[in-house]
Amino acid sequence: MQILETVAAAKAALRPLQGRGQTIGFVPTMGALHAGHLSLVEMSREACNLTAVSIFVNPTQFGPNEDFSKYPRTLEQDLAQLRAAGCDFVFTPTVQQLYHPQEDLAIRLPALSREWEGAMRPGHFDGVALVVAKLLNIVRPDQAFFGQKDFQQTVVVRRLARDLFLDTRIAIGPTLREPDGLAMSSRNRYLDAWQRALAPRIYATLQAVKAKAKPGMPTAPLCQWAANELTHDGAFVLDYFEIVDALNLEKQTTLNHEAEPVAIVTARLGTTRLLDNLPLF
Ligand code: AMP
Repeated sequence: MQILETVAAAKAALRPLQGRGQTIGFVPTMGALHAGHLSLVEMSREACNLTAVSIFVNPTQFGPNEDFSKYPRTLEQDLAQLRAAGCDFVFTPTVQQLYHPQEDLAIRLPALSREWEGAMRPGHFDGVALVVAKLLNIVRPDQAFFGQKDFQQTVVVRRLARDLFLDTRIAIGPTLREPDGLAMSSRNRYLDAWQRALAPRIYATLQAVKAKAKPGMPTAPLCQWAANELTHDGAFVLDYFEIVDALNLEKQTTLNHEAEPVAIVTARLGTTRLLDNLPLF
């Protein structure tokens, strides 16, 4: 496994391989890797000849009061896991490598990036889009793999690839979960034992909503029921529980088969925000 610490090293390693019948799969991450990340590496290895992973905690997608400086950084363990998973290249740039000192380039995404998670984290998806555009342009993979876990991010990245005419195919992998249903996340390590025991209620609530959901139903009572499930005993602070169309993230007022309704939720336990989602049909 080759470790590429600079943009120049990444281009020097990857360009000679491109256009020679080799296909490159790419998994962008912020490190603190878990089985969810590794499942995307596995997807890439199945679909492509070579797999590259990036580990980069991207400052432009964090708000001023968010956890950029205390985001978990576990490079040595990450590299060991990637080696064991059969990854070929790991790109580990510094912030100075990816952002020029006076850089003020920005990508301003359409309205869909300012709903839901975007409303809770202003500018977050603009930062995601900027770093994904940079990374895809450096790596120029045939396919890039993203997790359904960050559902709104998958919609934003697909738009980015479409509208910038990128050659990379965007592929989405299913959400990996702990045995009790909690979606795996680098941030789960922030949960104390009491919070960890409560956390699976998010997925249980999503599953219950899916079981209740029938075509023609209004969504408001379902979302209210779910909100109450999560908050009635003071366990969670709910940022949102909504049912949206998977294609454009528009809120659905009635469930119908023409749309692809997905329930999306973000709930907080203490200072830890937990995201999850589930397609309803
Ligand atoms: P992150 O390091 O959190 O930026 O995540 C890197 C990639 O891994 C993103 O495409 C995530 O959506 C994906 N990912 C994170 N958690 C999971 C999970 N539990 N299952 C599948 N993919 C995941």
